Amino acid sequence: MICLGIESTAHTFGIALMQDKKELSSATDTFTTEQGGMNPPIVAEHHKKVKDALLKKVLEDAKVTLEEIDLVSFSKGPGLAPCLHVGKNLAIELAEKTKAPLIGVNHICAHLEIGRLITNTKDPVFVFVSGANTQIIAHEGGRYRVFGETLSIGLGNALDKFGRIAGLGFPAGPKIEELAQNGKLIELPYVVKGMDVDFAGIITKAEQLLKKGAKIEDLCYSLQETCFAMLAEVTERAVAHCDKKEVILIGGVAANKRFCEMLDSMCKARNCKFHPVPLKYCGDNPVMIAWQGILEYNYNKRQEDLKTLEINPKWRIDELDAGWF
Ligand code: ATP
Repeated sequence: MICLGIESTAHTFGIALMQDKKELSSATDTFTTEQGGMNPPIVAEHHKKVKDALLKKVLEDAKVTLEEIDLVSFSKGPGLAPCLHVGKNLAIELAEKTKAPLIGVNHICAHLEIGRLITNTKDPVFVFVSGANTQIIAHEGGRYRVFGETLSIGLGNALDKFGRIAGLGFPAGPKIEELAQNGKLIELPYVVKGMDVDFAGIITKAEQLLKKGAKIEDLCYSLQETCFAMLAEVTERAVAHCDKKEVILIGGVAANKRFCEMLDSMCKARNCKFHPVPLKYCGDNPVMIAWQGILEYNYNKRQEDLKTLEINPKWRIDELDAGWF
C-alpha cells in the first residue's frame, strides 16, 4: 500500500510517500522568520506557497504517479488551525483526484509510532519533549495514556525563552547545550508535582540570577541538569508503574546529548533499554503521518467523510482508540 502523508501542524509543511514500512520519498519546507515567533495566518500562507512544489518533488523522487496512491493521510491535530486547514484542503483535493481513502491522524500519535518503527521497539515509555510539548506517555489498556506532562510550557519553549532573555538566539537549545559544557551547578527550583513537571518558575529564577550577574555557562548547565533530572525522575516512575522495558526519546530536545545520557543511565539502573530516535524522525516530519495513516487504515479501514471532515486543533493523544498497537 502506498500512502501519501501531509504534515502541517505548525512551522513545517511536508509531504511523504510510504509504501508499507518503506519510505519512498519525503520533502519539507519550514517557515522561518528573523523576528522569531509564529503568526499562524502568515505561516499558513507559507504552507500554501510551498505545497505544490513539494508534491511534485515527492512524486518525482519516488517515481510514483497520483494514480498509484492507495491512501492519503494528513495531520488532523493538534496544531495551529490555519496551518491544519492547508493540509486538510490539500488532502481532500488529492483524495478526490486519486479516489483513494482519506484518513486524518493525530500528530502526537504519529510521533510515537514513527519512533516505535524506527527504533524497532515494541512497547516503550515515550518521552516526548519538543518545543511546545513535554509528555511522558505509555500504551495501556488499548490507549495511549499521558503519565506525566508539563503544567506550563514545554521544555523546548522554556529553553528558547531563557535563550531570548540571555540573547542566545533561536532556537536556544543547541547553544545552551554548548555553554553548559563549561558550567557549574547553581541551585534552581526543582518542580515535580506528582507525575507532572513545571518549567515556568525555573526560567524566571534563571532570569533573576542572570540579572544579578550569574555566569551564563553556570545557568545553562544548571537549567539542563535540573530540567532533565525532573523528566528522568518522572520517566523512571512511569517505567516502574507500567513495568516497561524500553524507553524512547522523541522531539527536538532529543538532540541534547546530556539528556540522552541521563535517560540512558536511569534505564541501565532499571534493567531497561534506552533508544533515542534519529533526529530526522524526532521533529515534525511527514513520514510519520504517512506511516500513521497506513497503521490505522490497516487496523480498521477507517476513512473520513470528505464533506464533513474537520480539523481538531486541540486533539489530545489520550482521546483516541489506539487498538492497532
Ligand atoms: P512542537 O512540535 O512542540 O510544536 P517544535 O516543532 O518547534 O515544537 P521540535 O522541532 O521538535 O519542536 O523541537 C524544537 C525545540 O528543540 C526547540 O525548542 C529547541 O530549542 C530544542 N532543541 C533543539 N536542539 C536542542 C538541544 N541540543 N538541546 C536542547 N534543546 C534543543
